Amino acid sequence: MIRIGPAGTGGSSPEGFRLIKDYKLDAVEVEFTYNVWMKKDEAEKIKEMNKRLKLGLSIHASYFINLNSAERPKVHASKNRILKSCEIGHYLGAKYIVFHAGFYQKDTKEQTYENIKKEILELQKTIKKNKWNVVLSPETTGKASQFGDLDELIKLKKETGCHLCVDFAHLKARYNGKIDYDEIMKKIKPLGHIHAHFSGIEWTAKGERRHLITEKKDIKELLGYLLKYKIDITIINESPDPLGDSVKTKRILEKLK
Ligand SMILES: [Zn+2]
Repeated sequence: MIRIGPAGTGGSSPEGFRLIKDYKLDAVEVEFTYNVWMKKDEAEKIKEMNKRLKLGLSIHASYFINLNSAERPKVHASKNRILKSCEIGHYLGAKYIVFHAGFYQKDTKEQTYENIKKEILELQKTIKKNKWNVVLSPETTGKASQFGDLDELIKLKKETGCHLCVDFAHLKARYNGKIDYDEIMKKIKPLGHIHAHFSGIEWTAKGERRHLITEKKDIKELLGYLLKYKIDITIINESPDPLGDSVKTKRILEKLK
């Protein structure tokens, strides 16, 4: 099944969630990218309301995360930011907690992987202890300097039991437009339900520059591969018009099916 929805509700109130349902969308990713703006009681109210709406909920945690910083206080602060999203995510009934895990900086890819793996395992201990019903989902990133190519995250999922967020636009930017959808679909097919991001994207030699409006031809291309490989997926649109582009994606999907 292919579920579609926007990044952000366009407002913090319950009406934002109802609006997404009115547009016949299936999911929404709540943006805690600059701060966790929702309190526990509001999250619980929305969870209750969502029993009727049945939207698939996820959270985008803070942008300010580096689990591979050489400075321990920065790693500590990063983990606290992720955990705050996990806590409110739990009360909201959101499953996937998405974040960009870190930067390689002076470390090798292998060392970075080991460092981040260790921090993920520690975060999972805290999540388990608190009985928060959420899954850490590090995201494929758009720059070669950032940890998070598809192979690294699949390995991390296998070795820690975390999940992943496949950002197709980031993968395109990371490899300067050279995206091999067949190869990606073959890699993600065995992983079960996939949480994903999509939008148009502008890039330079260094990778991602900014998200753009999602072109129809790009939507068709992606959906074509997802249908061909029968991928079970939730696609969160992260363009400058996430709601409009989600509706557009949904319409194209209905025509293709
Ligand atoms: Zn993304």
